[in-house]
Amino acid sequence: MTSVAAYAASSANAPLERTTVERRAVGEFDVLIDIKFAGICHSDIHQARDGWGQGIFPMVPGHEIAGVVTETGSGVTRFAVGDRVGVGCMVDSCRECDNCKAGLEQYCVKGNTGTYNALDKNGDPTYGGYSTHIVVDENYTLRIPDGLSLDEAAPLLCAGITTYSPLKHWNAGPGKKVAVLGMGGLGHMGVKIAHALGAEVTVLSQSLRKQDDGLKLGADHYYATSDPKTFEELRGTFDIILSTVSAPLDFGAYLSLLKTDGALVNVGAPEEPISVNLFSLIGGRKSLSGSGIGGIQETQDMLDFCAEHGFGAEIELIGASEINEAYERVLNSDVRYRFVIDAATI
Ligand code: NAP
Ligand code: ZN
Ligand code: ZN
Repeated sequence: MTSVAAYAASSANAPLERTTVERRAVGEFDVLIDIKFAGICHSDIHQARDGWGQGIFPMVPGHEIAGVVTETGSGVTRFAVGDRVGVGCMVDSCRECDNCKAGLEQYCVKGNTGTYNALDKNGDPTYGGYSTHIVVDENYTLRIPDGLSLDEAAPLLCAGITTYSPLKHWNAGPGKKVAVLGMGGLGHMGVKIAHALGAEVTVLSQSLRKQDDGLKLGADHYYATSDPKTFEELRGTFDIILSTVSAPLDFGAYLSLLKTDGALVNVGAPEEPISVNLFSLIGGRKSLSGSGIGGIQETQDMLDFCAEHGFGAEIELIGASEINEAYERVLNSDVRYRFVIDAATI
């Protein structure tokens, strides 16, 4: 065990403060990662404030981790000291169930082990990426391609894969009209990825404040959902609507924007349940679905795809002492488009 510096919330309503946590000794199949950057995902805020319940405190959030390998266990074959690597939302899973075998470790039937706010197989709490170092099994470690800078790559480990996986699964591509609902951390990656996949992309944002950015990132159209005319004009338009909204929403209104057989795919994880009138699905054979992050191989594919297309995330780099302020800005939809913590300041 080694003590490392980290930023933690000591309880649900406490601000994040500098502290130390214990990292396990590097095991046979582990890599020790010197963390360089960690993105701030809205899920960090939901959990640090215990909005989803059952939070484990003290909590070190952070599941968008980019860094460099500084030590490898004796059985490690995939990574060497000096490699640029990333860690996303999970650090383990059962490895035996049908989903794990199919590369869908995020849907492990026994539950995957979260990078933080979870219990490891040995019963110890996991601590995330707002820290200087982390020890992770090589099978849950990703390679960051040379073409991507580590700071812009960090948010891909959650925001990138969470939008890439459903866009691929629901066949976003040429000839498909895709709407991305919410232009935040996930949403802006959804725009970039859907555009790179060849789809016609529309952003549905609360206002037109971020319109110029949206169009620059690859959107073909941009609408404000605060304008009732948007819903008249876009009725029956989309094959896929990807909702990245962190708050409860009137899904019925958005389902009306789908074509027949269209799918509203939700990745947002609001803290309260949502009620939907099922007639909005019946009229048009529509689907309402969900999607969670992505599997390990798929996450590697996404990183390679982003590198090939020459983009990472749009980031605002901050020092660790600014984390609490950044949380408030995320809550106010005032993020362009991902805060990334410089781990050298922890
Ligand atoms: P974010 O950066 O805060 O973006 C969310 C966006 O939603 C905001 O930028 C805003 O976009 C829109 N929004 C916020 N409040 C709204 C409201 N009351 N009504 C309408 N729109 C609103 O958050 P994020 O990091 O992208 O995460 C988004 C959600 O996805 C969170 O709930 C997070 O926990 C969840 N998540 C899920 C997964 C998964 O695996 N399924 C993975 C990561 C995150 P505009 O300003 O453009 O309107
Ligand atoms: Zn996340
Ligand atoms: Zn499993």
